[in-house]
Amino acid sequence: MRKIRIELPKYRLQLDVKLVKRRKPLLALSEEPIIPKPSVVRKKYRKGTFAGRLARYLADHRNIGKVFAVSFVAISTSAAFIPQTTNVQAQGAENVVIESQTNLMTEKSMIYPVAKIKINQDYYIFHKGLDLGGGLGTSIRPIMSGVVAYAGWDRSGYGNLVILEHKSGIDSYYAHLSKINVKTGQSVDTNTEIGKMGATGRASGVHLHLEVHQNGVSLNPLTVLSK
Ligand SMILES: [Zn+2]
Repeated sequence: MRKIRIELPKYRLQLDVKLVKRRKPLLALSEEPIIPKPSVVRKKYRKGTFAGRLARYLADHRNIGKVFAVSFVAISTSAAFIPQTTNVQAQGAENVVIESQTNLMTEKSMIYPVAKIKINQDYYIFHKGLDLGGGLGTSIRPIMSGVVAYAGWDRSGYGNLVILEHKSGIDSYYAHLSKINVKTGQSVDTNTEIGKMGATGRASGVHLHLEVHQNGVSLNPLTVLSK
């Protein structure tokens, strides 16, 4: 056990933290995320400054003892520097959420959906996915096991699209497929061929457009895929 103190303008919080060496995704520890969204904190605690409410949320969380050192340092540093005005407080809180994603990214627990890796286009602000090249009909497999949330045509440009739902609020999208082999509700693992590479929808040529989302926010797939 180790004592960690968070100093805030109006609150002083002392916590006994047990450091666990196991590297598990932070969000998998409980159904209630340890690092909350600002809206969750505001709903749960209605009085006080945002920083104070965040401190109380952390103190009340039943899994706080399992948080490993790195992420806890991130939480306390972010919380301590939250300034007084409401607007900037919200920004500080967003930073806390980003830290939790960084921890998940270091896991590299997902695999590439194609056997031969050829990156055609990287992830950037106007392209929220990763384009992987290959021949027409190349087998596409899930980045990790999960359940098919959608399998069918998408009018917005994805073409033939498969969306998989995984643990820890992770979703993955496989777009422009020439053929879909799965149905909504079906369980899949990394050996299942969910479809074949194609150029359907808004695609300049044959490739797979892969997106990875966590709690609805897209991540750079390169940060979570291991070779
Ligand atoms: Zn793309």
